[in-house]
Amino acid sequence: VMASMAHLQEEKLRLQEELLGLQEKLTARENEELSRSLQLQDQVETLKAKLLEQAQEISRLRSELGGTDAEKQRDLLAAENERLRQEMKAREGELRELRRQQQAPCRGCAHRQENAELQERLSQLQREAEETRAKLAELDLEVQQKTNRLAEVELRLKDSLAERAEEEERLSRRLRDSQETIASLKSQPQQIKYIIKTVEVESAKAKQALCESQSRNQYLQEQVGMQRQVLKEMEQQLQSSQKTAAQLRAQIVMYEAELERAHGQMLEEMQAMEEEKNRAIEEAFSRAQVEMKAVHENLAGVRTNLLTLQPALRTLTHDYNCLKRQVRDFPLLLQEALRNARAEIGQAIEEVHSTNRELLRKYRRELQLRKKCHNELVRLKGNIRVFGRVRPITKEDGEGPEAASAVTFDADDDAVLHLLHKGKQVSFELDKVFPPQASQEEVFQEVQALVTSCIDGYNVCIFAYGQTGAGKTYTMEGTAANPGINQRALQLLFSEVRSKATDWDYAISVSAAEIYNEALRDLLGKEPQEKLEIKLCPDGSGQLYVPGLTEFLVQSVEDINKVFEFGHVNRVTECTNLNEHSSRSHALLIVTVRGLDRSTGLRTTGKLNLVDLAGSERVGRSGAEGSRLREAQHINKSLSALGDVIYALRSRQGHVPFRNSKLTYLLQDSLSGDSKTLMMVQVSPAEKNSSETLCSLKFAERVRSVELGPVSRKAELASWPSQEQLEGDSPGTAAPPSRGHASPSPGQLSGRAASIRRKLQTSG
Ligand code: ADP
Ligand code: MG
Repeated sequence: VMASMAHLQEEKLRLQEELLGLQEKLTARENEELSRSLQLQDQVETLKAKLLEQAQEISRLRSELGGTDAEKQRDLLAAENERLRQEMKAREGELRELRRQQQAPCRGCAHRQENAELQERLSQLQREAEETRAKLAELDLEVQQKTNRLAEVELRLKDSLAERAEEEERLSRRLRDSQETIASLKSQPQQIKYIIKTVEVESAKAKQALCESQSRNQYLQEQVGMQRQVLKEMEQQLQSSQKTAAQLRAQIVMYEAELERAHGQMLEEMQAMEEEKNRAIEEAFSRAQVEMKAVHENLAGVRTNLLTLQPALRTLTHDYNCLKRQVRDFPLLLQEALRNARAEIGQAIEEVHSTNRELLRKYRRELQLRKKCHNELVRLKGNIRVFGRVRPITKEDGEGPEAASAVTFDADDDAVLHLLHKGKQVSFELDKVFPPQASQEEVFQEVQALVTSCIDGYNVCIFAYGQTGAGKTYTMEGTAANPGINQRALQLLFSEVRSKATDWDYAISVSAAEIYNEALRDLLGKEPQEKLEIKLCPDGSGQLYVPGLTEFLVQSVEDINKVFEFGHVNRVTECTNLNEHSSRSHALLIVTVRGLDRSTGLRTTGKLNLVDLAGSERVGRSGAEGSRLREAQHINKSLSALGDVIYALRSRQGHVPFRNSKLTYLLQDSLSGDSKTLMMVQVSPAEKNSSETLCSLKFAERVRSVELGPVSRKAELASWPSQEQLEGDSPGTAAPPSRGHASPSPGQLSGRAASIRRKLQTSG
């Protein structure tokens, strides 16, 4: 602020100085202007006087001019012209001077344009004067020429006049002579006549001469007239030139007046300029004063501000110094802090790493443990588990007492099921019983563990057993809106595989096959009618394989859906009555899960066999013939073989008759060893199906009791009843030992086995 104040004061001083300089200049210019204007006025006065003089002279000359004295007049005019020309020149000089003066002071002033206009007019006037001058010179020349011609003409005129006078003189003399002769002759009449005659003749001649001279005289006179006319014209011309001279003079007067007016205007403008300048100066002065005052006030304000600001400034500078010190120290501090933080972070990371490692280790151990526990659980629950599922009453069951439900459940035990058969209630105990209202989801919840163990490399078989229409296909395949175990299992496999993707690489492939009348066919193959054979792996591993069985590598649920669709199409195209056919054949979906642990290189292979078995209903009994009978025999045979295999497995017999049917042979590696099997026994609750339901439940309980029974029971139940035997209706006809297995004595039966037998006998 102080600096700006000082600057402003300086500015003010400078302005004042400038103002003074300008004022001085102004007064000087004023004086100059005044003197110049006085001079100009004087000049104008003298010019006026001269003009007056000229006018007087002109008038005098005019009066002097007689009208005929052309020479004199011309001289006078020429002289006057000369004078006028000089005067003009002088004026022009003055004018130029004036203009220069005018131009100089008025630079940058508002009246410049007006001045320019005036100057232009002046120049125009000058141009006009120039033109008139040129005209004047022309006229002068003409006058000169005319006077010359006039002189010439006059000279000639004089000559001709003199000639004429001479002639006249001559002629009059002759006339006189002639008259004298005539008079003398008259006095001598005789002679006279002759003489007269001669005289007459002579006089004729004289007459002719006279005539000639007269004509000549006429001509001369004409010429004189002409000359006179010429003279008159010349006089007229002279007059016109005089007129133009007068006009020129008038113009000069006009120009002078204009000059004067311009001068007056200039003066006025100068005055106005002066006034304006004065006003501007005054305004500037007053403005400067006001500004000064404001600046003073500002200064006072700033001073007070400064006074108040000083302590603040002191504290600020102090703060600033402190901050500066801090900033100087900051990088060091920052580096220190960063080093510390880095060290801490590194330590923390290290700790986290170690805990992570520890956790991972623990997690792996836990996983192992879980798997072990799970296997232990499965082992405890039995590698063969039997579930029962009762489907709801459907429209197909019809109405009335026949469609009434023959199945009831135990509210406290979900493993128990009661069947009302021929007025008697028979109870069955399975591993779990699903009532009609159980959803697919619930069913799958129970199956889930089996499916996941497939990922760990176990072979799994899930069978759906039961009479046609009991819901086997519904449980395994389900509907599009409510898919069954097949789809859900694959979905689960995919999600499990994905969650393990960090450590494991998995490949899931799917095959679908059908066993009808002991013939194995590929449902996904190009030729579904082709019968496939089951063969031992040539590598000596004892593994079985089916050459030509199509295996689809699937990566997503969409892929599976496509595969299923394809399988269905194959099944449909080969058969007109799908349901009938499907109930006469076993449908297998074989899912193979191959895993590779990336870190250890461990390879696992698990197989999940999902089997929709053929209907277990007894057809052969009603005397079926032909193909129906053959079908029934095949079905009976394969289901019995399945029962035999399960029995042999659970009783740990040295020989397991896998080869007795295509189904067991195909599933050999999935039934033996550590494999896990689930038998889902489907039953219909309808009253009319009660006997078939009873058969199915008996089969289920038998499978279960084999597995859970004590070792001693092995011998007792060593003989697995065939399908026909399951149908045994009289309590007295116990199942005969048909397969040549060791037959235990009835006394060795355990309590549980005895109860089963009892049930069997009571149910017939
Ligand atoms: P199967 O395959 O044993 O011959 P299906 O699965 O074809 O029997 O079932 C016969 C009928 O009963 C089908 O219409 C099916 O939709 C219906 N069904 C079976 N189980 C259920 C269930 N749990 N809930 C609803 N409907 C069922
Ligand atoms: Mg079916």
